[in-house]
Amino acid sequence: MSARMDKNYRIINNLYINNLYINTIGCIKIMENKILNKSCELALNSIEINGGPFGCVITDSNFNEISCGHNMVTLTNDPTAHAEIVTIRNACKELNTFDLSGYKLFTSCEPCPMCLSAIYWSRITDVYYANTRNDAKNIGFDDEFIYEEFAKNIENRKVKMHKINLPNALEHFHKWTIKQDKIKY
Ligand SMILES: [Zn+2]
Repeated sequence: MSARMDKNYRIINNLYINNLYINTIGCIKIMENKILNKSCELALNSIEINGGPFGCVITDSNFNEISCGHNMVTLTNDPTAHAEIVTIRNACKELNTFDLSGYKLFTSCEPCPMCLSAIYWSRITDVYYANTRNDAKNIGFDDEFIYEEFAKNIENRKVKMHKINLPNALEHFHKWTIKQDKIKY
């Protein structure tokens, strides 16, 4: 290959790579929007059956759907049955694991502190959301006070925390520490 041809080849090759890159990013954006839209559709459907207005989808790193869910607090009398929690539980059941490292969560609204904690515990890697917690506040779901509570000293929280000194309280922690065949999580 002559020097000139080599240069041209590189230019064409670079253009090709750049186009492929742009197309890949474009496809990913379309996938992200499509799945996030589904979480919003789940929220709409949830309202129809008297659930809360929140929906969620979990996918693997290639955007293949693993599980979906919607808010079921009033349907199941379970205050923890937020869309994200329901969907995390469905994904873990589907995959038979408690570790969702590398998986993506799409939720119709920015997660509340409980769901955000569950996301950290499940080790989900990416969260996509449509509405913000401020949007949720505007329709009567105010998570802000919980975020504020977490920042307070323990004695100043609305929920009264009572530390009781039991002489044998650390016994089960010790048993866990020395257990050789424990399943760490
Ligand atoms: Zn939540």
